[in-house]
Amino acid sequence: MAFLDVRGLRLYYGTPRGDVRAVDGVSFAIEKPGEAVGVVGESGSGKTSLALALMRLLPANVSDSGGSVMLDGEDMTALTDDDFRSRIRARSIAMVAQGAMNSLNPVLRVGGQIVERLLADGAVPKDEAMERAAGIVELVGLPREVLDRYPHELSGGMKQRVGIATALVMSPRIVILDEPTSALDVSVQAQVMNLLKRLKAEQSLGMIFITHDIALASDLCDRIVVAYGGEHVESGVADEVILDPKHPYTQKLLASIPRMDGVDKPEFLEGSPPDLVEPPTGCRFHPRCPHAFDRCSKESPPSFTVGESRTVRCWLYAPDTPPEDPTSAPLKPPSPCGRD
Ligand code: SF4
Repeated sequence: MAFLDVRGLRLYYGTPRGDVRAVDGVSFAIEKPGEAVGVVGESGSGKTSLALALMRLLPANVSDSGGSVMLDGEDMTALTDDDFRSRIRARSIAMVAQGAMNSLNPVLRVGGQIVERLLADGAVPKDEAMERAAGIVELVGLPREVLDRYPHELSGGMKQRVGIATALVMSPRIVILDEPTSALDVSVQAQVMNLLKRLKAEQSLGMIFITHDIALASDLCDRIVVAYGGEHVESGVADEVILDPKHPYTQKLLASIPRMDGVDKPEFLEGSPPDLVEPPTGCRFHPRCPHAFDRCSKESPPSFTVGESRTVRCWLYAPDTPPEDPTSAPLKPPSPCGRD
């Protein structure tokens, strides 16, 4: 059994227009401790809602939620909210929220903010908590003097490291990172990515890396899950997804990345993400898909298994679909990022 096994996860928000199906039957797995899974998709694909559902940090307007989450053989959905809060959240699964580096309390020293959860638990005296915080900030590449600083005395990269340290202070086995580098400039982004790679390797830390940047995800992650319109549309080993994308949406995502060699111009994906209150009938990608055919607007495709472990939610991979008309748009885009 996978270390983390998520099946059919669902999270709907109630609005005056109807339910927003932000997460609609998403499945993926972290096969073993220390594995990183990248969840990739454009804004509005349900990535952050997926993280909130896994952390059970549900907004008040949730109208429906469900699915199965097994962590190391234990059924998370069978736990009461109190049990989940006291045993799982932060201790087993922690999260670095989007914009975490801007959510530090400006009037509290960094050390006090990192140990807040440890002290709230009551199990650790303050001296010991501060010592543990010192070890954690050093682990993320900061000097222990940072503990006595206020957030405004730190750079953006340092604040993001503090956010990661805060998530790690309870020694979780999995950390969810929601767009952890999107607000950083490129050189600082590279430093944070190197830190995450080191933590993954040295601490055997499982990661769910949420990003709109599929190239960034491929740099860190063992597996990639591509999300579109609240559903997972493709998942597989990162290198295989990057080098041989199967789903037309994944292909468009990859074709939109500028290439180092400049041989092919980046493509852009026309149209907008689907309205999640009234998603398109059939395949949610069909209004934007260059390969759509009759069936696509009528029936919603299930996830088909392709090869060893790839899943693709697309009728092109149904066993009863005839091969594509060779005169239509090519299915395989150029390899991205010069990774031929
Ligand atoms: Fe495109 Fe049809 Fe596949 Fe959807 S099911 S991605 S519309 S070919």
